[in-house]
Amino acid sequence: RTKMKETEIVFIPSPGIGHLISTVELVKLLINRDERLSITVLIMKLPNDSTPTSSASAYESDTARIRFVHLPNPTPTPTQVDSEPPKSLRHFLFDFIHSHKTHVRDVVADITRSHSVRLAGVVIDMFCTTMIDVANEFGVPSFVFFTSGAAVLGLMFHLQSLQDHQNQDITEFHDSDAELLVPTFTNPVPAKLLPSGMLDKGGSGTLFLAIFRKFRETKGILVNTFAELESHAIRSLSTLSSDGDDNIPPIYPVGPILNIKEGGCGGEVTHNNQEQYDAIMSWLDDQPPSSVVFLCFGSKGCFGDNQVKEIAHALESSGHCFLWSLRRPPPKGSVDLPQDYSNPEDVLPEGFLERTVGKGMGKVIGWAPQAAVLSHPAVGGFVSHCGWNSTLESIWCGVPVATWPLYAEQQMNAFELVRELGLAVELKLDYRGDFFWSSDEVGLLRAEEIESGIRQVMMDGEIRKKVKEMKEKSRVAMMEGGSSYISLGRMIEDLIHDALQNIQTPPG
Ligand code: UDP
Repeated sequence: RTKMKETEIVFIPSPGIGHLISTVELVKLLINRDERLSITVLIMKLPNDSTPTSSASAYESDTARIRFVHLPNPTPTPTQVDSEPPKSLRHFLFDFIHSHKTHVRDVVADITRSHSVRLAGVVIDMFCTTMIDVANEFGVPSFVFFTSGAAVLGLMFHLQSLQDHQNQDITEFHDSDAELLVPTFTNPVPAKLLPSGMLDKGGSGTLFLAIFRKFRETKGILVNTFAELESHAIRSLSTLSSDGDDNIPPIYPVGPILNIKEGGCGGEVTHNNQEQYDAIMSWLDDQPPSSVVFLCFGSKGCFGDNQVKEIAHALESSGHCFLWSLRRPPPKGSVDLPQDYSNPEDVLPEGFLERTVGKGMGKVIGWAPQAAVLSHPAVGGFVSHCGWNSTLESIWCGVPVATWPLYAEQQMNAFELVRELGLAVELKLDYRGDFFWSSDEVGLLRAEEIESGIRQVMMDGEIRKKVKEMKEKSRVAMMEGGSSYISLGRMIEDLIHDALQNIQTPPG
């Protein structure tokens, strides 16, 4: 008797830790969930990426049903965005991904020639829509794994639809005081908070519009969220999808999908330096429950010298114990990610470390083992850039956030947390944080404002209670019978059902 063919899925995540961690965890979840599945994950590595997902250990698998293929980098690998002709980071990312297309095609072709597996579909994320062409060439459906939330997904569809179907030039929203009615939000959305990349006239705006046009051609969109968190947004997207008029594919809320090991015992991929990890954890072990404020701003978060000093003053005068992940901006125009300071004293106010760290009041670190830190009972508040993974991690761990969004769609995430869901304290919603590309001070936030945000997030009992309730709901969502568990099962059935329909009856 010949063995039944496994149903193979190819995953193509965008490079960047915020995309890779949740993709790898989703892949493991699918494999554990259904023994008919096997998965190939195609990994692209950004030049000069030193975050934990750039190392091979992030891609270990204990089953032959998961295969990681590290795609060779195109040569020469671009390293500067201000090359000729000048490019934005976003253009760079799109070009970088696009340049892997031939390799992707080769891998997919190999899989289709295999006798042991049957290719059922390709799952791409946000910036990889160019790979939908490859799926089409091989006649298999594409799915999207959207690593941000449902409200933002709806917002992007809405902007694209305004531009394409309602004769609205969305670039006019750039720096405008307008407010938008967006179906996935219950409150009017201030145009000031819209993701600037989408509104970039003649620049990345057209790239983003193309993404959401392409999304409408896919078979379904898995979203790293859960029904209990974004009930309004998910309901609204599902209604649009079932109406059929908008070509919004079926939405599968399957999260929160995170790399957090229970019990705060480490083992997360983001924990890559044992000595530093142990030092942080043992310091946290010595602190009372919910007493430490944690500051961390994602893989690209960094500040100019003056802003660093304002944060330091705020921490000192708040009187709270702190754990601060502080990283150095990359050189202007480079596509490198921020690095740890070799000596943070160079940038901190004089005597700061002595007065705080020296007295056991805090710790200044570089890259943080964030998932383990948030899981530690000593952590009582989180000043966060509101990247979607960080947002989900804070909810999963029940740690309230003070919002300080910096780039990408983070202002919208912050707006959703504060205004839509009442799950975070507003430290700032509209900080202009494009300093990633210039270490100039783009909107300096003063120590008093930062201090007030820190005090609030450490004290607000109401928000803490709501976050703890949402923590319980997030865990139930992922358990057998929970909303995300059911939704993932539905996606698997839809995929396998379609794959079986696609099989040609052999001649004779
Ligand atoms: N992260 C971390 N240590 C850091 C910065 C980030 O472990 O010092 C992890 C964080 O826990 C999250 C991911 O990197 O899982 C960042 O994803 P997110 O979507 O929050 O932000 P992005 O980096 O994509 O802006």
